[in-house]
Amino acid sequence: MRLLQILADSVVDGPGLRTVIFFAGCPHYCPGCHNPDSWASDGGEDYTVEQVMQQIEQIGSHRITISGGEPFFQPAALAELVAALAGYDIYLFTGYKVEHLVRDEQVRGVLARIDCLIDGRYVQALPDHSLLIRGSTNQRILKADALKTYLS
Ligand code: SF4
Repeated sequence: MRLLQILADSVVDGPGLRTVIFFAGCPHYCPGCHNPDSWASDGGEDYTVEQVMQQIEQIGSHRITISGGEPFFQPAALAELVAALAGYDIYLFTGYKVEHLVRDEQVRGVLARIDCLIDGRYVQALPDHSLLIRGSTNQRILKADALKTYLS
């Protein structure tokens, strides 16, 4: 998989001290994007799932946030990583809406394994500075129970 960075000890990407996996590549091109360097699919470096898991284990947190870029831009790699993270608390940021994501069988498998999805593109006209976890108010924080209703 192509990753921009594996970041230890983030306190702004979900509850608690989290390890953040930044996927390379994003097809959304949101105006006002906080991280346009993440758009290129050839940015960052190649990792195997084993290499990612080794770094995650070395860092030691069981709280993981998957971000980007757009993680679903590499659906097979994302599915493999999320399967390897069984037992971890997983937050996942995506520019897609959940209604779009549930149409794909492989993606549904990812959604069934995570603890929280923050969905939707960043909309510059709807900034949200009150909640660190969201960039704009259109984005939704969907915990596992809410995700189940979309998967049923
Ligand atoms: S989805 Fe995220 S990374 Fe992609 S363009 Fe929008 S704000 Fe930037």
